[in-house]
Amino acid sequence: DPRKMSLASAAARVAAEFEYPAEDVNRAVKAFIAQMDDGLKQKGATISQIPTYVTAVPNGTEHGLYMAVDLGGTNFRVCSIQLHGNSTFSLTQSKVAIPKELMTARTSRELFSFMAKQIEAFIKAHHTEHYQSHRERRRSILGAATHEEVFSLGFTFSFPVQQYGINKGTLIRWTKGFDIKDTIGKDVCELLQREIDILRLPVRVAALVNDTVGTLMARSYTSPGETGTLLGAIFGTGTNGAYVERLDKITKLNDAPEAEKRDIDDSTGDMIVNTEWGSFDNHLSVLPNTQYDKSLDDESNNPGVQMFEKRVSGMFLGEILRRAIISLINDEKAALFKDDNSDQNDVHSTTTIADDSLLYQRHGLDTAFLSLTASDSSQGLKATRQALDKTYGVSATSAEDAEAVRVIAGAIGKRAARLSAVAIAAVVISTDSLNKTKDGGPVDIGVDGSLVEFYPLFEDYMREALREIPEIGEEGEKRIRIGIAKDGSGVGAALIALVADRVL
Ligand code: ADP
Repeated sequence: DPRKMSLASAAARVAAEFEYPAEDVNRAVKAFIAQMDDGLKQKGATISQIPTYVTAVPNGTEHGLYMAVDLGGTNFRVCSIQLHGNSTFSLTQSKVAIPKELMTARTSRELFSFMAKQIEAFIKAHHTEHYQSHRERRRSILGAATHEEVFSLGFTFSFPVQQYGINKGTLIRWTKGFDIKDTIGKDVCELLQREIDILRLPVRVAALVNDTVGTLMARSYTSPGETGTLLGAIFGTGTNGAYVERLDKITKLNDAPEAEKRDIDDSTGDMIVNTEWGSFDNHLSVLPNTQYDKSLDDESNNPGVQMFEKRVSGMFLGEILRRAIISLINDEKAALFKDDNSDQNDVHSTTTIADDSLLYQRHGLDTAFLSLTASDSSQGLKATRQALDKTYGVSATSAEDAEAVRVIAGAIGKRAARLSAVAIAAVVISTDSLNKTKDGGPVDIGVDGSLVEFYPLFEDYMREALREIPEIGEEGEKRIRIGIAKDGSGVGAALIALVADRVL
């Protein structure tokens, strides 16, 4: 059937546009390392390399009771974490939807007092003893509560902040539908602490937490053995990484005001750096740039930024695939979804695409579909065809149609995994971790996010690329230990509060 031949070859041609050979991987690793270095030296670099003021990662022996709160896009989470000191922990949590009107409240106080009240309710519900003993202490002559009675709290605040201390950071701008004018430029830890103090709660906001740093800490506490974790990386809606850097390499810290410099704990000689690597190579000196990448960026809300993220993360892979599918639909010769076929019972059917198909809508195709089709081992790709029908309004597709879509989706997923390897390799190489770890032991990496968790073969493709990088090679790749690190904003935030207490 000549139509099927040309569809298969058209799909192969599109898939080939996403090939990302070893040579390009290696070129990108060099650029990534250079851009990381640049970010350590100066503000406003392509890779931001934000100092976090967290100067150690846990080794699993930490213990104690801590609190964490997480202000995300839609929910406010409060939890307490009991660290058992043997790499395990127990977590108690509550979650409430953030009332819409608070997201655009007139004053910061409305939002922050809401958070403090949730913390109060949580303590009353789960930690009454703590609460009462603190009250009694307050009434006693000694007055001030002792350090142990006060919960140290890690505050995960997933909005852009300018951090200038472990529990100090000012809001740069709101995102995700929040808009409260008077919060801009204010220290969000101080705003929360003020409301906590008004309610007289035994809580100290000890740390301002970025979710990627939380991932690193959570992994380091739970990872097997006592090897500290080098890198925490997220491959979810977005992508980002935080890693352990030598303090003396973060030379831009020398430009900070004296008062801030005095606050830096230099006892370990390290500091965790939040890379914000989603913006790697925004100028496109080495990143691949297919016609689909180009049009996605041109039509995005933020053209020219987050260029690495736009090729790697869950928010964009589905959209790249959607654009590639549309180009095949429009390619007369490829004739995707133009079947006119009869099944074995001689029932005649014609492939149709609904007018309101999600395939025609920007961001209409979810990255979860890439995982679905990549793991579809059913006869005639039934699962893929079913999803095309049920979710995307393309009825009566042929197995050949599904195969064409699958080949392209696979190429996009594989390229994303190989690009992810670039970031991981750059961190491993620039920190000289393979040479520094004693006795050729493991270099530990914690990852989180739906893409790395659910995309089949994501790690295998990543590892394949790592082996193609001479500074890592087969030997090095074997020593890179990658594990899923869940709950960075819970246990990870608690661990940052713990580390913050130590340097108090
Ligand atoms: P977040 O990064 O927001 O904390 P996730 O790690 O769950 O949350 O990532 C959500 C992103 O992952 C979305 O962009 C979504 O399209 C994508 N996603 C969801 N499920 C899957 C899946 N099974 N395979 C690949 N990507 C997925």
